[in-house]
Amino acid sequence: MNIKRNYQYLLSDLSTLKGVGTKTQNLLKKKNINNLFDLLWKLPKSYTDRSLSSKIKDLKIGEIQTVAIVPQKYNFPRIRNLPNRVVCKDETGEIDCVFFNSYEGYIKKILPLGKEITVSGKINYFRKKYQLTNPKYVSENSSIIQQVHNKYSLTEGISEKLYNKIINQIINNLPTLDEWHSKNILSNFGNINWNNSVKELHKPENIGKYRDNFYQRLAYDEIFATFLVNSEIRKKIKKVKKKNKIINFDSQKSIINKLEFSLTKDQTKTLIEINKDLASNQKMFRLLQGDVGSGKTIVSLISALNTINSGFQVAVMAPTEILARQHYNLAKKIYPKNIKIEIISSKSDYKNKKEILNKLKNNTINIIFGTHAVFQKKVIFGKLGLIIIDEQHKFGVNQRKKLSDKGGEDCDVLLMTATPIPRTLTMTIYGDMDISVIREKPRRRKPIKTYSKLENKIDEVLKFISKEIKIGNQVFWVCPLIDESKKLDHSSAIKKFEYLNKIFPDKVSLLHGKTDILEKEQILNDFLNRKFQILVSTTIIEVGIDFPNANVIIIENANKFGLSQLHQLRGRVGRGDKDSTCILMLKSNLSENAKKRINILKETNDGFLISEEDMKIRGFGDVLGFKQSGIKNFKLADPIHNSDLFLLAEKEMRRIEKSNEDIGKFKPLIKLYDRADIINDIA
Ligand code: ADP
Ligand code: MG
Repeated sequence: MNIKRNYQYLLSDLSTLKGVGTKTQNLLKKKNINNLFDLLWKLPKSYTDRSLSSKIKDLKIGEIQTVAIVPQKYNFPRIRNLPNRVVCKDETGEIDCVFFNSYEGYIKKILPLGKEITVSGKINYFRKKYQLTNPKYVSENSSIIQQVHNKYSLTEGISEKLYNKIINQIINNLPTLDEWHSKNILSNFGNINWNNSVKELHKPENIGKYRDNFYQRLAYDEIFATFLVNSEIRKKIKKVKKKNKIINFDSQKSIINKLEFSLTKDQTKTLIEINKDLASNQKMFRLLQGDVGSGKTIVSLISALNTINSGFQVAVMAPTEILARQHYNLAKKIYPKNIKIEIISSKSDYKNKKEILNKLKNNTINIIFGTHAVFQKKVIFGKLGLIIIDEQHKFGVNQRKKLSDKGGEDCDVLLMTATPIPRTLTMTIYGDMDISVIREKPRRRKPIKTYSKLENKIDEVLKFISKEIKIGNQVFWVCPLIDESKKLDHSSAIKKFEYLNKIFPDKVSLLHGKTDILEKEQILNDFLNRKFQILVSTTIIEVGIDFPNANVIIIENANKFGLSQLHQLRGRVGRGDKDSTCILMLKSNLSENAKKRINILKETNDGFLISEEDMKIRGFGDVLGFKQSGIKNFKLADPIHNSDLFLLAEKEMRRIEKSNEDIGKFKPLIKLYDRADIINDIA
């Protein structure tokens, strides 16, 4: 029977598979394998060749062998701990199949007397006899056994045999799909089609052949599908006609003149890009990317003021309340007095909140700051014109899309991130957005001097910070999470606080994940106002906060952190104009690899370079928490190793966008690969 199958077969439920019960389905679902397509990307790690059968007299002891035997006699001793045996033979000799903990009925069923049965397994030799213990590969049908059996890293509870059976079932029924790629693209991959590529992918002899056409094609499919989805979202957003904002350059100039510094070239450039978007009839969906301390906040606040001057409201969302408040305070400081600025925080009481909600609704608040609370359902804006989201690299494309929809059609969207990532990743993760980059840091800023110190040299560190404190400087002391699951994260911070407080009485404060939110703000404010000199903390204040007077950061157990995270932590200092120092404390026995990583940090302050190195070491999913973001992890493609494929996909994408080509032929590709189901209404 030859059923013509199309791509939808691959999207069908696991229950479609023969021999797969609900128990197995649930085990797979736990691993996020929900349909047949998902199963294709679990690749064999190695294989066992059971294809050749031998005679009993030629069996090799200690090796996996396949042999056709005829059961002769059951030997079922009714004594505990003695195994059941089945004496079997072929024309050359005898072998015992030995069973521990198996029911007689089962044994009789799989090894019926007098029938030729093919068995496969590791051969032992015991009391001058060949034996096979607990054989798992047993069948009357020799062709089922005489195969190359792939070994997968298995989901617990699913046997290798069953898994092979499942995969083979899908591979044997694999639909031949109409080609979605152009001839030109295909020629890069030796013209191999999707169907054959998947078959090659699962052949045991192809394990690890990442540079072969079949693998490259499938990796490209995956990348291109992501780009297509991104492009579709972009196109859709661009289609929305909005009321343009009018940029009042006098007002813009007057706040720029009030600043204690002049904008860098890149700040000016990105501001112009944003203003252009605001003033256009197309909805803005833009990412402002710039390393820690590159000065994104001021750029966003100036564009916010332009939006307000055009009669619209602005919502600014930050990941933490502390950061929201810092932005709020800056706005209070630099905006003209007539601008109505508010903050929603957990601090505000019910009455206050209700009043804020009312004012937002009737457009008497111009700009509101807050955490995700800003976007609760009950928050209704009278005339929202711009959403600014700070430091939300954990926002996936799905959440961004929702956000852009939520604002309504006149609402522009600006995202900011201090996550410098290589271009291949930017295209992948933020391909739905236009991108502005601040590369240059404010000029007078000095690089942060980075040192590493062994933990047993803590005295030298203490000496150093006591000198710094004497001249009025402030210090961050960061303790890593010891064990998130055991909630021990704050214990090391508490210990360190007690230790430092003895040495520097009344000069130390403590902040950790369990500190009450009001207290937390008080502590940070006190630190900002220089009421104490050393802030011991866990990593809770990782992003964004600006303490210009703090110029020393000590990071304990530094090898516990990834490079990018260390770079972000380090970015807490060096924001003022003083010399600043970062000391990475290490336990003595660092591996060569760990030393190499630490050296990268010492050598450069360039976040882009650091994240690239980090990704080479750890893989991109682990860097900066993209994994938690719900941003789809690639199954095959790798932004570092396949950068050529990313560039090829980008070029092809641009070509298609430019030529306005119909993308209907990509429908199966998108349907198969777009797990987020973002553009389900396409084509
Ligand atoms: P980030 O890009 O990490 O969000 P911020 O916007 O918090 O950086 O800015 C970091 C610090 O740099 C702030 O203290 C800010 O006042 C200062 N700053 C911003 N732009 C400039 C500039 N052009 N020259 C000097 N300092 C600046
Ligand atoms: Mg910031």
